[in-house]
Amino acid sequence: MLARTTPDACNQRLLKGKHVDRIHLLEENLRISQLVNTRCHSSQCVIVSGTKNAKPKRHEPLLRGLPRAQAILTPVSDPTPTAEKRVFTFGKGRSEGNKGMKSLLGGKGANLAEMSSIGLSVPPGLTISTEACQEYQQNVKKLPEGLWEEILEGLETVEKDMGASLGDPSKPLLLSVRSGAAISMPGMMDTVLNLGLNDEVVTGLASKSGERFAYDSYRRFLDMFGDVVLGIPHSLFEEKLEKLKNAKGVKLDTELTALDLKELVEQYKHVYLETKGENFPSDPKQQLQLAVIAVFDSWDSPRAIKYRSINQITGLKGTAVNIQCMVFGNMGNTSGTGVLFTRNPSTGEKKLYGEFLINAQGEDVVAGIRTPEDLDTMKSCMPGAYKELVENCEILERHYKDMMDIEFTVQENRLWMLQCRSGKRTGKGAVKIAVDMVDEGLIDMRSAIKMVEPQHLDQLLHPQFEDPAAYKDKVVANGLPASPGAAVGQIVFGADDAEAWHAQGKSVILVRTETSPEDVGGMHAAVGILTARGGMTSHAAVVARGWGKCCISGCSEIRVNDNEKVVVIGDRVIEEGEWLSLNGSTGEVILGKQPLSPPALSCDLEIFMSWTDKIRRLKVMANADTPEDALTARNNGAQGIGLCRTEHMFFASDERIKAVRKMIMAVTLEQRKAALDSLLPYQRADFEGIFRAMDGLPVTIRLLDPPLHEFLPEGDVQEIVSELTAETGMNEDEVFSRIEMLAEVNPMLGFRGCRLGISYPELTEMQARAIFQAAVSMNNQGVKVLPEIMVPLVGTPQELGHQASLIRSVATKVFSEMGSSLSYKVGTMIEIPRAALVADEIAKEAEFFSFGTNDLTQMTFGYSRDDVGKFLPSYLAQGILQNDPFEVLDQRGVGQLIKIATERGRAARPSLKVGICGEHGGEPSSVAFFAEAGLDYVSCSPFRVPIARLAAAQVAV
Ligand code: PEP
Ligand code: MG
Repeated sequence: MLARTTPDACNQRLLKGKHVDRIHLLEENLRISQLVNTRCHSSQCVIVSGTKNAKPKRHEPLLRGLPRAQAILTPVSDPTPTAEKRVFTFGKGRSEGNKGMKSLLGGKGANLAEMSSIGLSVPPGLTISTEACQEYQQNVKKLPEGLWEEILEGLETVEKDMGASLGDPSKPLLLSVRSGAAISMPGMMDTVLNLGLNDEVVTGLASKSGERFAYDSYRRFLDMFGDVVLGIPHSLFEEKLEKLKNAKGVKLDTELTALDLKELVEQYKHVYLETKGENFPSDPKQQLQLAVIAVFDSWDSPRAIKYRSINQITGLKGTAVNIQCMVFGNMGNTSGTGVLFTRNPSTGEKKLYGEFLINAQGEDVVAGIRTPEDLDTMKSCMPGAYKELVENCEILERHYKDMMDIEFTVQENRLWMLQCRSGKRTGKGAVKIAVDMVDEGLIDMRSAIKMVEPQHLDQLLHPQFEDPAAYKDKVVANGLPASPGAAVGQIVFGADDAEAWHAQGKSVILVRTETSPEDVGGMHAAVGILTARGGMTSHAAVVARGWGKCCISGCSEIRVNDNEKVVVIGDRVIEEGEWLSLNGSTGEVILGKQPLSPPALSCDLEIFMSWTDKIRRLKVMANADTPEDALTARNNGAQGIGLCRTEHMFFASDERIKAVRKMIMAVTLEQRKAALDSLLPYQRADFEGIFRAMDGLPVTIRLLDPPLHEFLPEGDVQEIVSELTAETGMNEDEVFSRIEMLAEVNPMLGFRGCRLGISYPELTEMQARAIFQAAVSMNNQGVKVLPEIMVPLVGTPQELGHQASLIRSVATKVFSEMGSSLSYKVGTMIEIPRAALVADEIAKEAEFFSFGTNDLTQMTFGYSRDDVGKFLPSYLAQGILQNDPFEVLDQRGVGQLIKIATERGRAARPSLKVGICGEHGGEPSSVAFFAEAGLDYVSCSPFRVPIARLAAAQVAV
């Protein structure tokens, strides 16, 4: 079939670098006019997909032999390159652009075009494309050839629409000139209003609209044009205004008379002469040209560059320039200006939510000079315009199928729509709006799923600060946003203190250089955790996320002094007991107590989440180590446990950790077995609790993984030795030599993972025994148990083979001892690059793979996951890395290993179940990657389960 494509698809091919000056359109029903709005605007287009049924017309010879579904764009013989269209006009009921052209017309321009084409009253105007801005930047800041003529041509259309002309005193046309990039950059670039005024035009305006209004507009223009276009400081104009007000004995600008304003205009013109040595440019066309150049230049202003860098906005071409007829909200009491959201953006309530100012221009609302009133004021004093506004809101919601943010002006009772865009909203608002719009039949479930952002769910699941803008001047340091939400508490420096203060009913923030497993009690007692060291997968980060607790890690600006119980930030010393607030979603450390709002769970959220479950293919499991975490995970919609880190259970009580230490310190096999025997009942009891919580769902339990030294007490060697001597009954020399033996230069690459179980098979035996005993006993009690045992840090098939046969032999023994059996799986983590590459061999031994992307990232990049905080900020600032790879999956590197391993593993064992349990399992863009790579499940902390469910559904729609 011919031309089975869209202008967008056509453009994509163009953008892919095919230089096509002119192309033919062969499909009748794809009208040239449709293409006018795209990069193909000035071309005719040949878009051909060669299918069996293709009926080529003029280009028949070209199509023969084309494979099915191949598309081509064919340059035709005309060799003269026609320039791209760079100026797009709009006016009531017509426009050359549309809402899909944001990249070319900027967000504002595309939406002005769309509003015009659906018939709303938009002041006529024209948009100069972002590509023209790009050309300007590349053209050493000169207007590209022919652009000015195109602008004048567009202006003529606008003048015809309005029956007015730029610079004509008898029918004056005033313009606004505004920037507008594809992504909104509020206040970053320039705007000029009332352009077109000079000494002659102002008299024409005065005779039409009154002297005072005309001269007020003129002096505003002189000020704004001087400031924005010619760089004359606004303060110089402000000084003149203040002086005049003093001289006239008035307080408000509005108290100045027309005569006063005339005088002010003269003074303002003088400012130009004084500062620039030249007269104010009175030719309106010259004014327009200079204003366009100023807007183009503002794209590269230091503040705009900084804004783009902070917000990681890349890949844009430049700003568009919107030139529009001015409409005036300051023409007396039948005029006004306002902004509104079509629904309440905080709560989602279906009611217009906005502000209105009578007899004012837009800047007055923004500048906060007067306090705006609510929309009911408008309803009572301008009922006609209000009615039309309400209708327009309905039209726009129906058209955009979204909640909209609108700016409007009423000039002498006539409504004008100045801007519309998708409205920003809170998490609560987002979910309610999505659910309501489905109920109203405005959108379907799939569109609703696209409407809510993963960050919105974060807001709903964790406490947040009431007003983040209010504390900006109190931010004293920034770290990594390791676990989202907000926390306010008194600081303490030790885990024991955190527990003690918490027991007294205090809200505490635990501040540590870094945390260790020994700190878990204090971490649990704290409302938030702040560490100077450690990355997004450091101990503090992983544990805090697991509990949904706010955490900032790797905050290198702080120095923690445990002895003196102070934290030093720059030259500020903060003592134990002082209040800090943490924003775990942004990494900001804030002085004092900031007001919090609680998580906002609702019935709408439940409905919304049920839709995500209907749509997604990817399963979402949870990383949970205790029965309580397992229950939280299940309540949040987890479909099983993808990672239970058994070592976390060892810290749950003093007896447990003592038994673990005895096991570590054991010199003989008998000693080790005795210690393991005392651990077995604890492990079994925990597994029973987890199996019960996950009745009917799979539970993946990982064998012991961390380096053993992590279980030893903290402190200097002497303290450790004396503590261990007391705990184990060994003498100091024995303890000392055992500690020396355990010491490692690089523990993360040392004696850990399956290496432990291979060297000490009795350890694996104990863990497997505890799992199978718990499984059989729960099964006997009617709980449906689906255990999956996972071997960590495997690099060769032989390692897995060793552990798998040990596990299976324990299973056989336990089943025969208990007189009952059940099915189970044995699988492995893939977290060493070698394992990914030999995945086919490993899959022969494994029934499932779970990618441990924390270690896999560490080993693929060669960045220590605990020390990455030292250089990562500098890497991010310099653009060497775009993201923290421990937070957002590195798709090019680590992602490739995942794809290779999945492919090779499934080739060797088609039934292989494949998932991921590293911290990336709850990060939306990574979840999308895993879904597309064909994984069966992701596993993440219980509090991120809803986010992963949403991300998995979004990729499915
Ligand atoms: C991993 O490496 O991704 C993983 C889940 O294991 P851990 O973080 O416990 O090393
Ligand atoms: Mg790991």
